Amino acid sequence: MEETRNFIEEIIDADLKEGKVEKIHTRFPPEPNGYLHIGHCKALAIDFGTAKKYNGLCNLRMDDTNPAKEDTEYVDAIKEDIHWLGFDWGDRFFYGSDYFDKDYEYALELINKGLAYVCELTADQMEEYRGDLTRPATSPYRDRPIEENLDLFKRMKDGEFPDGKYTLRAKIDLASGNFWLRDPVIYRIKHLPHHRYGDKWCIYPTYDFAHPIQDALEGITHSLCSLEFEIHRPLYNWVIENVSVPHKPRQVEFARLNITNTVLSKRFLRSMVESGRVDGWDDPRMPTLCGLRRRGYTGASIIDFCTRVGVAKANSLVDIRLLEACIRDELNEKAERRIGILSPIKVIIDNYPEDKKEYFEVPNHPQHPEMSTRKVKFTKELYIDEDDFALVPPPKFFRLKPDGEVRLMGAYIIKYQNAIMNEDGSVKEIHCTADLETGNGMPVDGRKVKGTIHWLSSDNTIDADVNLYENLLTLEDPSKLPEGMEYTDFLNPNSKITKKAKLEKTLESAMPGDKFQFVRLGYFCMDTKNKNTFNSIVGLKDSKGK
Ligand code: ATP
Ligand code: MG
Repeated sequence: MEETRNFIEEIIDADLKEGKVEKIHTRFPPEPNGYLHIGHCKALAIDFGTAKKYNGLCNLRMDDTNPAKEDTEYVDAIKEDIHWLGFDWGDRFFYGSDYFDKDYEYALELINKGLAYVCELTADQMEEYRGDLTRPATSPYRDRPIEENLDLFKRMKDGEFPDGKYTLRAKIDLASGNFWLRDPVIYRIKHLPHHRYGDKWCIYPTYDFAHPIQDALEGITHSLCSLEFEIHRPLYNWVIENVSVPHKPRQVEFARLNITNTVLSKRFLRSMVESGRVDGWDDPRMPTLCGLRRRGYTGASIIDFCTRVGVAKANSLVDIRLLEACIRDELNEKAERRIGILSPIKVIIDNYPEDKKEYFEVPNHPQHPEMSTRKVKFTKELYIDEDDFALVPPPKFFRLKPDGEVRLMGAYIIKYQNAIMNEDGSVKEIHCTADLETGNGMPVDGRKVKGTIHWLSSDNTIDADVNLYENLLTLEDPSKLPEGMEYTDFLNPNSKITKKAKLEKTLESAMPGDKFQFVRLGYFCMDTKNKNTFNSIVGLKDSKGK
């Protein structure tokens, strides 16, 4: 059987064939400054998936070398989300900060080799001296003698200087066409406590210096990351070549996941939380893994989505409806059917006795008889959905209307008689008569009834809040933010609408996280935080063109 290979696997196959590596070892390095989003799932699927495919290992490493924004709350949440997706790092859990001592030693090594120097330019000056494509950068401190560099760097570490007074820069190439090689800063002074080391350090390595060292020390063979790091790769390789690390990992970049109407950036997502525009990181509208979970997505459906998107070298924009199709396909198979009436109006069956009850048997899943059936009660007083009735029907309206007949799903055919209105002009109740001969069959005289609507007996319901969700943003391509505008200018005012619904009484025993199809409506998940609340996951059909 021929197996297809993505470009990363082709690279790995070649490395294995040439004997450059033996056992494949990858890592996933999230920065614990927010919750994981679905973009991270793509990276996770690639990092853990590639290791698994080659019978190798994948480390989980918290990239916590920048002390500013990190928090243990995020560390725990990240672990939980990764386990939820079904990935496991075993005992290979690390922190980037595990290697602070080593980073420091390697920095000393560079200084001793004449490959790093202490620079005194301020951030503004550095910008000013950065040069451009025709002019090289400059630094008056580049030729500082090694002894002086060693002395200053040690004193930086000992806390003698304020933030920003000095930096340590790698001495690479001030004229390079790649600006990341123009003597990049590899250490800066930050008098900030670290979540694991407190005040031990007041100098911190930059990501570009620390990351290759972490990879090398952990024996990573292939450091897989998203495309924005491609331009940093020469620097990654420079570090690996110039400090005496025990292994030489290889960085390979893949396209980031971009989704329509969705911004995948922790910074933006945090701003949505902090400004109160959403109800926390796990708001069901958020593209975070905890948000998707609360919405009703399963880990399997998200992985399925990442698999369908595939691994590519070039960035592209994926339609959010592909993600919706993945959960719809799964729930279409698995979710039991129930009845929910989101905007209930009362229907009275005039010719049905007051004290009579009947039970109609309905399937829990029409395609899966083994999922059994349940009985729904029929009485004189029912609820139907407001949308299934029109006093002045548009053309081709086959639901309940004056002079019309409609089938109540699985039960009688009813005929409109009259409607009683509220003072505000809304419908209070609709009076109908039932063709009591029909119960679940065709009319005896062979006349055709086109429409079928769902219904509930008024004493077979529970009250619930049902949240209907749409995309948070109306901007389809988030990379095309118009000049001078912000994402928050594109917030969808209908992204959450709460309905006071009547649901089938059997849902009383549903547990938080349980998922159902509400017939004719879509898929819904019982909320894990608020009682008697259901969240819409996805509609029954692709909403395209609606
Ligand atoms: P954000 O901008 O959301 O904070 P990040 O890249 O800074 O994302 P990290 O925590 O540093 O977040 O990311 C960990 C890993 O996840 C990195 O290797 C990064 O390449 C990858 N990653 C992040 N976002 C995406 C995405 N949209 N698609 C694919 N991979 C991603
Ligand atoms: Mg980051």
